[in-house]
Amino acid sequence: MTDILRVENLKKSYDGFLAVNGVSFAVQQGELKALIGPNGAGKSTCFNMLMGQLKPTAGQVFFDGENVTGQRPREIWRKGVGRTFQITGTYQSMTVIENVQMSLISHHRKLFSVLPRAWKLYRDEAFEFLETVSMADQADRPCSILAYGDLKRLELAIALTHRPRLLLMDEPTAGMAPSARIALMQLVADIVQDQGVSVLFTEHDMDVVFAHAHHIMVLNRGELIADGSAAQVRNNPQVQEVYLGGGTLFKEAQDA
Ligand code: ADP
Ligand code: MG
Repeated sequence: MTDILRVENLKKSYDGFLAVNGVSFAVQQGELKALIGPNGAGKSTCFNMLMGQLKPTAGQVFFDGENVTGQRPREIWRKGVGRTFQITGTYQSMTVIENVQMSLISHHRKLFSVLPRAWKLYRDEAFEFLETVSMADQADRPCSILAYGDLKRLELAIALTHRPRLLLMDEPTAGMAPSARIALMQLVADIVQDQGVSVLFTEHDMDVVFAHAHHIMVLNRGELIADGSAAQVRNNPQVQEVYLGGGTLFKEAQDA
């Protein structure tokens, strides 16, 4: 299988404090991979470097074999690295399907002068994206009245309109009830399966992680201490000591 993402010796220093300290890993095409670790481990810092929001202190990021280290977020995004759910805000005053159409118009880089036609043009395509996330029945509802979990599914549909090859999701299920978390990640897993897109996500709920991730990486104090299958990670003594055994797991699940 091909590595869609490869990270080599990535580091981020904040005034001498190494929030990320020499992280190397790969994500393969069609892989659903989790990055877990206690609060402050450096997960978000890692994600921000992958997306171009933060410049690494050292190390390199390769997307589909191309060195994208230090490139701007927009350039990396254009190459096919999508991100939920922090960037893709929805327009509350528009309907569900209008939000998806808006994103398709931007994806196809249509000028606003053709907007009236574009609205018509992309309605069918937008509807298909809504079907992918089981939101077609809510197409004409205004976004302002959507339930939280439905808004997340809409944001996922919007991210998909740009046809990403890799989706980065930093705590996608934050603020959701446990059953809704499982449902959202099941949807993501189905999309990975159907479309061959790759997903890297962070998540506090270990039920979600162990139910859906193909592979799991564990970050602790800026360093990767494990990278493998659920069984490998569960049985890793260092992981058990740092993370799974110490009771942190359940505390974090409650905090999240
Ligand atoms: P996680 O997402 O795993 O909870 P973060 O990547 O947010 O962890 O943070 C990793 C560490 O880096 C933490 O100790 C945090 O306090 C520190 N940190 C994050 N952002 C900054 C910043 N802008 N300036 C200084 N320290 C930061
Ligand atoms: Mg974080």
